[in-house]
Amino acid sequence: MIGKDTQALLLENQDNFLIPADNVATVMYNHSLDHALLVLSNVGYTKIPVLDKEDHFVGLLGLNDIVRKMVSLTDIDTDNLAGLTVADVMEIGVDYLTDESDLEDILHLLVNNSFLPMINKERIFLGIITRKEILKCTNHLVHDLERRYQLVPKEDKPRDTDKKAGLQVI
Ligand code: AMP
Repeated sequence: MIGKDTQALLLENQDNFLIPADNVATVMYNHSLDHALLVLSNVGYTKIPVLDKEDHFVGLLGLNDIVRKMVSLTDIDTDNLAGLTVADVMEIGVDYLTDESDLEDILHLLVNNSFLPMINKERIFLGIITRKEILKCTNHLVHDLERRYQLVPKEDKPRDTDKKAGLQVI
């Protein structure tokens, strides 16, 4: 469980970590793959969310997913993309957050994901939470924690950090 003081300090500089849907680059599931390739190279991200016409979140499209279709044993050919759509290669069943997810869920899932889509009960895409935003707040937390709080160990034993730093603990 994340303590309330720790959470408050982590979140001190922002109410939430969400990059709202309007500021997120996305593709539609029925877009052609060559169009999606153009979108990905223009936005400069290697993976972006895929939506349907009603703004429901349906999956993620990564550059790798497209490149895999272009590459054969001897050649790289964009002609292989003709007739394919985003839906043919996108990742489905990926991790996501809901607007009810708590900080613990977010931190846990961000260990294995560089960003997480957030959806509401109707699966409408709300935006993404990125590892970078969380790391910025973590940076603030680790710098301010001992400056602003008196930390008293609960048990009378050497701290791991002291051992690692090779400190003599009396
Ligand atoms: P960052 O932590 O900012 O490096 O972002 C991690 C990943 O989140 C990026 O590699 C993208 O896949 C995705 N991402 C971040 N910002 C955006 C955005 N504005 N639109 C679409 N995808 C994004």
